[in-house]
Amino acid sequence: MDNKIINGKEISNQLQTELRQRWENWAQNHPAALLRPPHLVAVLVGNNPASEAYVGNKAKACAFVGFKSTLLHFETDISQADLLSEIEKLNQRADIDGFIVQLPLPAHIDEQQIISAIHPDKDIDGFHPLNLGKIILGKAQFIPATPLGILELLRVAQIETKGKKVVVVGRSNIVGTPISLLLSRNTAVGNSTVTLCHSHTANLKEETLQADILIAAIGRPLFIKADMVKPGAVVIDVGINSVSDVSQKRGFRLVGDVDFEAVFPIASKITPVPGGVGAMTVTALLLNTWAAFMANQGIKI
Ligand code: NAP
Repeated sequence: MDNKIINGKEISNQLQTELRQRWENWAQNHPAALLRPPHLVAVLVGNNPASEAYVGNKAKACAFVGFKSTLLHFETDISQADLLSEIEKLNQRADIDGFIVQLPLPAHIDEQQIISAIHPDKDIDGFHPLNLGKIILGKAQFIPATPLGILELLRVAQIETKGKKVVVVGRSNIVGTPISLLLSRNTAVGNSTVTLCHSHTANLKEETLQADILIAAIGRPLFIKADMVKPGAVVIDVGINSVSDVSQKRGFRLVGDVDFEAVFPIASKITPVPGGVGAMTVTALLLNTWAAFMANQGIKI
């Protein structure tokens, strides 16, 4: 049964261990006086508990692989101008390889303007318009963490994508649209024929039933039912939805966009929630931090 599950947590641990090894090898082969670890900065505005938990996880993962992480925490009422000026300072600092601005930002801040102010070479979230645009050209510098996490899951789990029919449900800028572009390119984890579905897709079930690989990034709990999945399909569930559950101490549990129990018997491989795509996101960010660090050393990976 277990070999049907694509275990994101396990793959993530494996990739982090490999990354730590890469950094340790690098450190061993370079003079101590010239050495500094890869450095990620997280910018947090306000006191959103989920955002605080996310940046906490990023710091923990950095510590595990031997990278340096710094948290810059600003009050909720920081002005747009002051936040932009803090970003400019980070852009200028040579000791920082990359930084992220944890989203969402308070309502008075224009998120798109903030993202666009991040220097593309330090944009390890890959949300800058230039970095998103480079995906279309097949010259991605930083792939956003969730699509990169999906590519890494497919690669490590040895899921063949070449010549496969992929159906992506959900066309967000951070997940659905980039993963559909990436999988359609002529790359090792690519060369798929991709259909991108959304809320105006005329007959969604007809589309999803065609999928050899079905990727759900919808934000609706248990939306993909068994009768929407082709027997033998690989199912990648990006959704993270909290549903109330009185049997849980915290009063809720997390479920995906796929009705896991019902789809499991039909799928050839499936990612669980939690412990699937979500477990890969922080690792993908570390991979981008490493790429930024290498670029600062004059090495393109
Ligand atoms: P989003 O911005 O919330 O957009 C949802 C997409 O789903 C939209 O494109 C929407 O279509 C489409 N959609 C909604 N209802 C639909 C329906 N009935 N039929 C077909 N398509 C429908 O998406 P997101 O930010 O990518 O998030 C999606 C899910 O992934 C959420 O549960 C989120 O929490 C999760 N997520 C997980 C990770 C991770 O690390 N695992 C990272 C990011 C997001 P329209 O464009 O037509 O509105």
